Amino acid sequence: MDVGPWSGNGRTLHLCAMHRTVDIALPPREAADPALVREAAAEAAAMPLEIVKGARILKRSIDARSKQPLVRLRVELSDSAEFPAPLAAPPPLRDVSGGRPVIIVGCGPAGLFAALRLIGHGLRPIILERGKDVRARRRDLAAINREHLVDPDSNYCFGEGGAGTYSDGKLYTRSDKRGDVAAVLRTFVAFGAPPDILVDAHPHIGTNKLPHIITAMRQAIISVGGSVHFGCRVNDFLVSQGRIHGVRTAQGTEHLADSVVLATGHSARDILELLHSKGIRIEAKSFAMGVRIEHPQAVIDRIRYHSAQRDPLLPPASYSVVQQVEGRGVYSFCMCPGGIIAPCATAPGEVVTNGWSPSKRNNPFANSGIVVAVDPPAGSDRDPLAAMRWQGQVEQAAWRMGGERQCAPAQRMEDFIRRRPSSDLPACSYPPGIVPVPLDELLPAAVSLRLRGGLQAFGEKMRGYRSNEAVLVAVESRTSSPVRIPRDPGTLAHPQVQGLYPCAEGAGYAGGIVSAALDGERVADAVAVRPGP
Ligand SMILES: Cc1cc2nc3c(=O)[nH]c(=O)nc-3n(C[C@H](O)[C@H](O)[C@H](O)COP(=O)(O)OP(=O)(O)OC[C@H]3O[C@@H](n4cnc5c(N)ncnc54)[C@H](O)[C@@H]3O)c2cc1C
Repeated sequence: MDVGPWSGNGRTLHLCAMHRTVDIALPPREAADPALVREAAAEAAAMPLEIVKGARILKRSIDARSKQPLVRLRVELSDSAEFPAPLAAPPPLRDVSGGRPVIIVGCGPAGLFAALRLIGHGLRPIILERGKDVRARRRDLAAINREHLVDPDSNYCFGEGGAGTYSDGKLYTRSDKRGDVAAVLRTFVAFGAPPDILVDAHPHIGTNKLPHIITAMRQAIISVGGSVHFGCRVNDFLVSQGRIHGVRTAQGTEHLADSVVLATGHSARDILELLHSKGIRIEAKSFAMGVRIEHPQAVIDRIRYHSAQRDPLLPPASYSVVQQVEGRGVYSFCMCPGGIIAPCATAPGEVVTNGWSPSKRNNPFANSGIVVAVDPPAGSDRDPLAAMRWQGQVEQAAWRMGGERQCAPAQRMEDFIRRRPSSDLPACSYPPGIVPVPLDELLPAAVSLRLRGGLQAFGEKMRGYRSNEAVLVAVESRTSSPVRIPRDPGTLAHPQVQGLYPCAEGAGYAGGIVSAALDGERVADAVAVRPGP
């Protein structure tokens, strides 16, 4: 519709089918009021308010650089109050019951998004997952938290939805060149995520909401002829004459297909060992190791929002820091405002930390990984699993120092910086509990030295961050895979094995939920263009 010429702020503008976008910044109270947002956006666009019937927020971010934090909004103005609604349900998928089968090993974000994309291509995904469905998995998480028992097939990393299900569900990524990030977010919304994730600069779903979304994805895949098999740990690849024909599971079943997507995540050490033992090439790559640091959320709010009390209309504050120390990066990773530190071991006899938060982020603690970039050890070209074993040794030492339970070694931040033992520890969200340990005795010297330098630098950048109220909880060792599984840049298949498609985080091509989902889609596209046998 052409609303014709109109004038505002002394300018005459011509509009067709009136839709204009404008950027504004408002105090939190005004940003929370739709009428005030519409008014402010109309004024910024120099449009008379009576023309503007609807205003919808396209992007939202918090700008806390000045004393008064502002909410930055990109607003679309329209002469109609109607805007297209975000997808309330997934678009119908085509029936693939008679389609060519494709095996997907691993039901994490990569496996699920690969399956949905394969269905779009008319192919029939068969997902094999070593763990349990989200509901059954919950009991095994309780056993880790309360009884210190780790099931090697069902834990915070293994099971339906992979490491993504009981993760924080932060959905931002720096890998927006690898695919259509907005389309991944829309898929999450179509399966039940809140539409706010389409708008927020730092979208976040929350651990409490993810299981329903993952279940809905599985049901959609099955409803059109795909299949999802739980309790199926793949322990062999059926390969002959440089081609894959299928896989065998620990339960003794063979599944046959000429394409196998390997999306087993960064903790499937047995898969990496299997590849190596079969002479299928893998390569060591750099990764990171460090600790989870936890502050009272109020401390981080005070630092970020420059006031004693957080405005309740502002979200619990987060931070992101990075510093070069002695030639290597020290950086924050997976910061969880209002969150909980999670026990993420995937085998008995090791302690591994990570973090999550519920959708409301209403726990009293703020935790974040603080990790040091680590290069593969010398000799990794001959032994590509050396770094993985070294990673495992530190995790096992953490278990011993924690009392041979899931209790995690911990030290107050200032005590760690000043190299003095902590005589006691503050309250901490980590459910199995923490025990005081001088972390220099646990962490490799190359890590603890740089960690100390990084923490000192972060304390200078953020006044109040360096504090004995904060506690370091070890060990944060699974930020990424220490191994890459090579693939041909054109076909995306393993250069030595036709039809074997290394995928996402475990293969070294992703580092988070969204990038894993994008890589799953990319690999599915590559499988679809592969000529049949
Ligand atoms: C507590 C926690 C919080 C996190 N928070 C965030 C966050 O907020 N945002 C973010 O982007 N990322 C987060 N992550 C990381 C994110 O979850 C991973 O990057 C992502 O899940 C990787 O996806 P993937 O599909 O490559 O692998 P995974 O999610 O690891 O899935 C691999 C799957 O393969 C299965 N598998 C392994 N071996 C076999 C086998 N032999 N046979 C059959 N199945 C097998 C596993 O059981 C698992 O289900 C978090 C991770 C954790 C643990």
